[in-house]
Amino acid sequence: MHLKNDNKLAMLLGLHCGDSLGATLEFCDPRPEDDLHTEIIGGGPLNWEPGAPTDDTDLMLILLESLVLKKGVLNHHHIAKGLIKWLSREPLDVGNTTRSAINRMKEGLPIEQWPDIGEWTQGNGSLMRTAPLALFKVSDETIREQCELTHGHPTCADTDIIFIRTLESALAGNTKQDVYETALKEARRLHNPVLIESLEDIPNQTYESTKTSGFCVHTLNAALFAFIMEDSFEESLIKIVNRGDDADTVGAVTGALCGAFYGFDAIPKRWLNTIQEKENIERLLSL
Ligand SMILES: [Mg+2]
Repeated sequence: MHLKNDNKLAMLLGLHCGDSLGATLEFCDPRPEDDLHTEIIGGGPLNWEPGAPTDDTDLMLILLESLVLKKGVLNHHHIAKGLIKWLSREPLDVGNTTRSAINRMKEGLPIEQWPDIGEWTQGNGSLMRTAPLALFKVSDETIREQCELTHGHPTCADTDIIFIRTLESALAGNTKQDVYETALKEARRLHNPVLIESLEDIPNQTYESTKTSGFCVHTLNAALFAFIMEDSFEESLIKIVNRGDDADTVGAVTGALCGAFYGFDAIPKRWLNTIQEKENIERLLSL
């Protein structure tokens, strides 16, 4: 397989690995340094099967499948259909903002009424699924529209735009420093003071000071921090999911970035052999 395709596949498999590794520690306190969680074993507060996809991987797959079937074009109603079908299967974990948006899709409300826009709706529910857009050379507007299917706060869309441009930089084979600078440059271009401050702060952070909450700004910050601080895919994921809290989503976002940067061979085989949607991701990318 060509190097770049290899990294594209690794981006999405990496997301799944981070999601399934972190699922064990979702909502938990940070683990002590001498007792880190390192294997995809399921369990956790929601009692996952080992290697099961949580909402992060599920939602990424819905977006990926739609983009592949629609040849890279964002088709809002096609994605909404996938989201409605997913929610009807009663998944174990669904974010509040995502759930209320899907319910409005189901009621047949017009598209502008799907997302919440309030101050308390700046969760990472769109960030967790947006990675496939990095495969299709999309505009800022497309990234924003994808976000606004469920998350209407401008900071959510800005976070997604920064993340997609950062993934594109990693997929293009740039250095780690360049990838980080892409994120900073994008935050400044979008004039989002919260994101500028958060991303500028990364070199001064420690693991203890890094927040892994469901706030989209924290999630992007934590993923970039773990990417910069460690020298491998495996170390970045292990270190960051062991901070607990929204560990599965922080793991998923970190996994996508590290997969895009390090490529397929950097993903531990023991993790690849455990994740349940590996073949599905490979099949969709080969269409
Ligand atoms: Mg999840």
